[in-house]
Amino acid sequence: MSTILVVEDEDAIRDLICMNLEANGFATDAAEDGEEALVKARRHPDLILLDWMLPGLDGLDVLRALKASPETAGIPVIMLTAKGEETDIVLGLEMGAADYIVKPFSNKVLVARVRTQLRRGGETERNDVIRCGALTLLPNERRARLGDDELELTCGEFDLLALLAAHPGHVYTRGQIVARTKGEDYPVTDRAVDVQMVTIRRKLGAWGEHIETVRGVGYRMRP
Ligand code: CA
Repeated sequence: MSTILVVEDEDAIRDLICMNLEANGFATDAAEDGEEALVKARRHPDLILLDWMLPGLDGLDVLRALKASPETAGIPVIMLTAKGEETDIVLGLEMGAADYIVKPFSNKVLVARVRTQLRRGGETERNDVIRCGALTLLPNERRARLGDDELELTCGEFDLLALLAAHPGHVYTRGQIVARTKGEDYPVTDRAVDVQMVTIRRKLGAWGEHIETVRGVGYRMRP
């Protein structure tokens, strides 16, 4: 059974999230502030739901401390943010948060996002074939197929698509994409990422809809 550490200072919301997770087969642990969160993170929960607005240490402080410690750096963190806090979201993702959920959120969305991250964590990186729906990528041969059709991709396009396809549901900011894709024609600016994405989507045809633009943040492959 996976254990989720829920970090939220508002009792009612925290209890509701815990109850909902438990009803869906998860074990929960709870912390009402950042200090308590850092102590309980050392019990190695499988995932941490981290509210951004906390008294004392805020969500960003907690995230920074979690990622700075080898003991807790590998635990996926989903941020809970208020609507419209795009700067926080981008900052959080660049600091290593796995995903974010905007409040108010439905229980179903919360559980789905948690499951996606746990599935990701369970996958090993050893796979040399990336499959995502009809899309198959062979990084060693740098070949891409959509169904039975071979796709003609540049190096940069391949890397970008592979990054998204290997981690469905994970939102990448443009900054992260620039940092992680290093083909010959690798994008050097945020704008170049957008341009490359247009080309990739065109090459994917209707299937290109699986790549979602997350407004003000970046891109993700639909799980
Ligand atoms: Ca709060």
